[in-house]
Amino acid sequence: MEIKKKHIAILGSTGSIGVQSLEVINAHPNRFVVEVLTANNNSDLLISQARKYKPNIVVIANDNKYKEVNDALFDLGIKVFSGQKSLEEVVENENIDVVLTALVGYSGLKPTIKAIKSGKNIALANKETLVVAGDLVTKLCHQYGTQISPVDSEHSAIFQCLVGEGFNPIEKIYLTASGGPFRGRVREELLNITKEQALKHPNWDMGAKITIDSATMMNKGLEVIEAKWLFNLKPEQIDVVVHPQSIVHSAVQFTDGSVIAQLGVPDMKLPIQYALGFPERLENNFKRFSFLDYPELTFEEPDFETFKNLSLAYSTMKKGGNTPCVLNAANEIVVDAFLNDKVGFLYMSDVIENCIEKITFVKNPTLEDYIQTDLETRILAKELL
Ligand code: MG
Repeated sequence: MEIKKKHIAILGSTGSIGVQSLEVINAHPNRFVVEVLTANNNSDLLISQARKYKPNIVVIANDNKYKEVNDALFDLGIKVFSGQKSLEEVVENENIDVVLTALVGYSGLKPTIKAIKSGKNIALANKETLVVAGDLVTKLCHQYGTQISPVDSEHSAIFQCLVGEGFNPIEKIYLTASGGPFRGRVREELLNITKEQALKHPNWDMGAKITIDSATMMNKGLEVIEAKWLFNLKPEQIDVVVHPQSIVHSAVQFTDGSVIAQLGVPDMKLPIQYALGFPERLENNFKRFSFLDYPELTFEEPDFETFKNLSLAYSTMKKGGNTPCVLNAANEIVVDAFLNDKVGFLYMSDVIENCIEKITFVKNPTLEDYIQTDLETRILAKELL
């Protein structure tokens, strides 16, 4: 029997997750078809991807690169659009089955909301969307009957642990963290960290923003908030456990005390494939995990003193409202500043904390409130720098 292929839109196809998603799709040509590819700026890679995968539509966010992309794809009959608005509108296309959101940061929010409202299933690689507006996004998913499959490896692990559990309640979840390149160090040792040092992650090969977030442990903080919304948890049900080998990708503890974990070598292609193929597990030739290669799997408590971002994430999650949106916007500004050598490693969390204190609290924000909060926080964070 012929299986109907899933038509995929990849938002952010030239980033790390986007590129790996195309590798997954390439390995399963009888299951997936690329319908839409989008990129911010990287026209060269976007053009070569489009020539290889022949999507129906391509969007380049940077308007200045429209002509270059359009000229390069003209002979293939691919429709080319440009600009931020096109990025938001393209997800409404009726041919799309799944929208994989691999955009970086806050920029993923509006396209994801549009996709949900168009009834598209979401493969979510953009955790910031749920951090900023988890309340709104999850409500919309209920309203429009949309399913979110997480691509983040930890959340994919939890998602996989929950399959077949029906309504069995979760007692708590364990989000594992590699601890990043500076695990085990104290604050004084992090004073003069350079971006080159911070960009060297021990286990995962990722984009620049998320790699810095891993070094500061903000990534884990954002993931804690992401998990709260994805799995409808209370803050006290989410524990972070440092696990330097990145083999146990996360675990769920049920009310009978049983703990189910998902294991594998650190490779994003597996969670990407699971999100795209869900509920099916597709055969592949990715590297297999062997227990004997890892005779010692170790676990430790996170250091909330040194990695203040993790404490900030927990406190903003507990406070709720627009506070996580402030956390995220301030973080995006300081990470960008750090990557441009404009702020010291430890000072990043001070700026974020300052923004959380100063931005006006909104208890039940609308989308407009989130947009406003994001804007105000960015201005304030830049002033504080
Ligand atoms: Mg992750």
